[in-house]
Amino acid sequence: MIVENLKNVQNRIHAVDAKNKVTLIAVSKTKPASDLQQAIDVGQRHFGENYLQEALEKIDILKGQNLIWHFIGPIQSNKTKQIAENFSWVHSVDRLKIAKRLNDQRPTQLDKLHMLLQVNIDNEPTKSGVLESEIDDIVAHFQNFQNISLRGFMCIPNPDNSANSFAKMAQIMKKHPNLDTLSMGMSSDLELAIENGATFVRIGSDIFGKRV
Ligand SMILES: *Cc1c(COP(=O)(O)O)cnc(C)c1O
Repeated sequence: MIVENLKNVQNRIHAVDAKNKVTLIAVSKTKPASDLQQAIDVGQRHFGENYLQEALEKIDILKGQNLIWHFIGPIQSNKTKQIAENFSWVHSVDRLKIAKRLNDQRPTQLDKLHMLLQVNIDNEPTKSGVLESEIDDIVAHFQNFQNISLRGFMCIPNPDNSANSFAKMAQIMKKHPNLDTLSMGMSSDLELAIENGATFVRIGSDIFGKRV
């Protein structure tokens, strides 16, 4: 089932990804390593996790298979060290304090940690992320960090409004031509996200099934 689901999602992406610029992140939170292994066996390499302890267990079980791990969940200060040591990408950075800690704690023998700034694109009080008006100031500060590389933005739009939100993200990307990565689009709206320039789509339940 997972293999078939994965193929279906890949087909949906290919149908709209004319420039072949999109990378699929399989979001595997709450799913066992054996589920991820099924996807790995047919070539899936990028995985997204939200909960640190659970992620660390899977990273250990699945090590040695050239996987690329993305941290996409909320980040508390006391979790930054293990995130900096175990992930290649972090999508959910929403304040400079967290970026600074990740920079200081990234082991220098590893490649730079790739980072996305999470944008609260619909100004929703219940969601994390920086506001659009704060972006430029925060982006400017990233020049001071040696061990992390700001690559772009991530958003989780209000599903009722995602077309409009994705279009706003496309405008923000245009203002930052030195950034090349836009993480947006989930199971229900990946086509729309790709049409608006998404380079990572994050798909969970359409690959691994519903979470209980
Ligand atoms: C869970 C999650 C996803 C995947 O959601 P699905 O509805 O399972 O496809 C994508 N992005 C983030 C940030 C998530 O937490």
